[in-house]
Amino acid sequence: MNLTLPAWPPDWPEIRSAAAQCVASGDWGRYASKTVAQTTKRIAEFTGAGSVRMCCSGSAAVELGLRAAGVGPGDEVITAALDYPGNVRAIELLGGRPVLVDLADQSPCIDADGVEKAGSDSVKAVIASHLFGVPADIVRLKSICDDRGWVLIEDACQVAGMTIDGRSAGTIGHVGVWSLGGSKLLSCGSGGVIFANDDRTAARLAPVMDRPSDAFGISPLAAAVLHPQLDRLAEMNTRRSQTAVELRDQVFPHLAGVTWYSGQRDESAFYKVAFTVGSDQERLRVIDAAEAMGLPLGAGFRSLARTSPRRCRKPVSLDRSEMLGQRLVVLDHRALMIDPERRDELAAAIRSLLQ
Ligand SMILES: *Cc1c(COP(=O)(O)O)cnc(C)c1O
Repeated sequence: MNLTLPAWPPDWPEIRSAAAQCVASGDWGRYASKTVAQTTKRIAEFTGAGSVRMCCSGSAAVELGLRAAGVGPGDEVITAALDYPGNVRAIELLGGRPVLVDLADQSPCIDADGVEKAGSDSVKAVIASHLFGVPADIVRLKSICDDRGWVLIEDACQVAGMTIDGRSAGTIGHVGVWSLGGSKLLSCGSGGVIFANDDRTAARLAPVMDRPSDAFGISPLAAAVLHPQLDRLAEMNTRRSQTAVELRDQVFPHLAGVTWYSGQRDESAFYKVAFTVGSDQERLRVIDAAEAMGLPLGAGFRSLARTSPRRCRKPVSLDRSEMLGQRLVVLDHRALMIDPERRDELAAAIRSLLQ
C-alpha cells in the first residue's frame, strides 16, 4: 500500500508570488505593514468578526485572551482535562489555577454540564476548544459564562473556517483564537489570530499588545503567505469534510470496538479526524502499523485526569478524558486532502488497519 498524500505546507505558485511581492514592495521590513493589514481585513471578512488582530502564535493568542480576561495569581480557569497542553500551561504561567472538567458524552470537547458544576468564586474564565472537527457546545457555554460574569475563550485553533449555526468558530466566545502554526489548516510556520468579540475585551487587549509597537505581532512575510490560503480555505475545508464523511460511512459502521468522533456533521473544518480504539495497547499497534503504510495517524492529546490535585482543582469525574487519553487516534488532514478518486483506497487502508 502506498498512499501518496498532498504535501503540507502546500507548495502553490500563489504562495511563492505572494511572498515575492511582499519582498519586492519592501513591506517585509516595515512595522506598519500593509500586508498584515490586508490579511487581517481578509480574515475579518471571512469570519464576520468585528475585531481581529493577528499575532505570533495560537498559544500566544490563548495567553492574550486570558490576560484580557484579567486572569492573574489565584484566579481559576475552567478547562477540559484533555485538550491542547499549552492551554493549561498558559493558565499556570499567569499564576492561575486550572480547574479540570470532563468531555461531553460522545464528544472530544469540554462538557458544559461539568463547567456549570465546577463554578466557584475564584473562577474568572473558561477555555473551550473545538477539537478534531467537532464543535464544542459553545453557544450554551457562552450563556453559562455570561450569567456568571466569566470570560469565555473559544479556542478555534484547529477549525479555521468552521461555522456553528451560521457563525464562524472563534467569533462566539468573548475572545476567540486561531492558530496559523506549521501544521494547521492555515499555515505560516508560526502565527495566530485573536478575535475580541466585545468592546470590553478589545479595550483590555489593546494595552497588552500595543506598547506602542505590536508586542506579539506577526511578520509581514507570514501574513503574505496566508492570503492565498484564505482564498482556498472554504474549498479545502469542503474537500476534507467530504473525505471525513466517506471514512465515517465506509469504515466505522463495520468495526466493533471503534468509535468515530468526528464528522457527525457533514460540513466542518478538519485539522484532524478522531476515533477511539479498544485499548491503549491496540492504539500502539494501530499507530505502528499506520506508520509502516505511510498513513499520518497518531495519538490524540494526553489526559490530565491524573494530575496532582495540588496543581489543578478537579471537582467532577474525569473518566471520559482518561479513556480518550488512552484510546484516541487521530488522522491528519493531509490524508483528508487525498485526491477524491482515491478516497476508497484510503478507506480500505484504514479498514485493514483496524480489523
Ligand atoms: C495548535 C493548537 C494551539 C496552539 O497553537 P500554536 O499556533 O501552535 O501555538 C492551541 N490550541 C489548540 C486546540 C491547538 O490545536
